[in-house]
Amino acid sequence: MKKRIAVLGATGSIGKSSLDIISRDPENFETVLLTSRSRRDKLEDLSKQFPAAVCVLADDPNGKEKLLTAIAETKPDITINGISGAAGLEPSLAAINVGSHLALANKETIVMAGDLAIRSAKEKNVNIIPVDSEHSAIFHLLRFFAEQGHKSENVSEIILTASGGPFRSLSLKDMEKVTVKDALAHPTWNMGQKITIDSASMANKGLEIIEACVFFNMPSEKIKVVIHPQSIIHSMIRLCNGVIYAQLSKPDMRHPIHDAIYWPITTKSTLEPISFDSLTLEFSKPDPDKFPMLKYAWEAAKQGALYPCAYNAANETAVTAFLEQKIGFLDIPKITEHVLQADWSAGALDLETVLRADAEARRRAGSLIF
Ligand code: NAD
Ligand code: MG
Repeated sequence: MKKRIAVLGATGSIGKSSLDIISRDPENFETVLLTSRSRRDKLEDLSKQFPAAVCVLADDPNGKEKLLTAIAETKPDITINGISGAAGLEPSLAAINVGSHLALANKETIVMAGDLAIRSAKEKNVNIIPVDSEHSAIFHLLRFFAEQGHKSENVSEIILTASGGPFRSLSLKDMEKVTVKDALAHPTWNMGQKITIDSASMANKGLEIIEACVFFNMPSEKIKVVIHPQSIIHSMIRLCNGVIYAQLSKPDMRHPIHDAIYWPITTKSTLEPISFDSLTLEFSKPDPDKFPMLKYAWEAAKQGALYPCAYNAANETAVTAFLEQKIGFLDIPKITEHVLQADWSAGALDLETVLRADAEARRRAGSLIF
């Protein structure tokens, strides 16, 4: 039987890659829901391409409710969540609640309320399959590893690779002057604006440190980051015997999307494989002074509770202000650090608590932006 599939954030970068993968296999997938917040023209084009899908444009104050209702009514078998930012959290929970498996690109779901989402998924007997390329790599490595009969205690480190973004080789002094245009020029990945700015500040890797801790239930000190500008190795696990296992492919999000929607089956893909004919892989250590968002993420992950949610909300508010040219690039970590100094130690027990903390962190961040 065909899998009924929803693509949330269908007009975005993940949405486009998802629809490309789904379109390659019409015998196995039927698109039942497509959503976006803006770009009515693009959504209309998609509705012609996927006539069986319900299309929801969430561009008005009732947009969120329309989106949640559409998830509940269409009851997809699989939901790909490619919404950017905190706005992705409630749609993820709504999908889980109707018994849909979740192919999750929206890392904010796990950063803000990972325990809640994972617990709900267990209750509903649905899977959350990460689409973020690093977490997809680790997820599949750990699966192969478990299938060989190894114990998870034998994983001594998760090593996340990071492209290092466009400012990898700039001095801290030069980073003071970078513009929005400079920050949007990502060397390897073509992504939405928010994640592209996060890649430049390495807040994206910060969010991924938290995502890895929560998703794989690992302490923050076991999550390492290495800069690997070619983005060919998507991440690695180091075992207690010192051996490292890595996942490699071209930097193309269609790979982790493919793996997520076919999971647990490994299916032939028509994507171009990597060739070793002229391949150079480089590695270096991230500079902690240039990229303080990494340090704040490790601290937030260690503290747990609502610290990760506050980290995300502060950064999201600061990135919006940077895109609007209200603050400089290096104000993003300053604002985040300030917000994290408040007390976020209450547990992230339910959605209301998380949303309240999110709003409070945004208010605190906003008080520094004029
Ligand atoms: P994007 O900006 O290209 O697309 C975002 C999509 O979400 C659009 O369709 C937009 O209309 C929709 N959207 C935005 N705000 C919304 C709201 N408030 N309510 C409903 N819909 C809303 O973003 P993207 O680069 O595709 O990233 C999407 C998510 O995937 C992010 O969480 C990002 O961190 C994650 N991710 C992206 C990539 C990538 O390569 N692009 C890689 C890994 C993870
Ligand atoms: Mg990633």
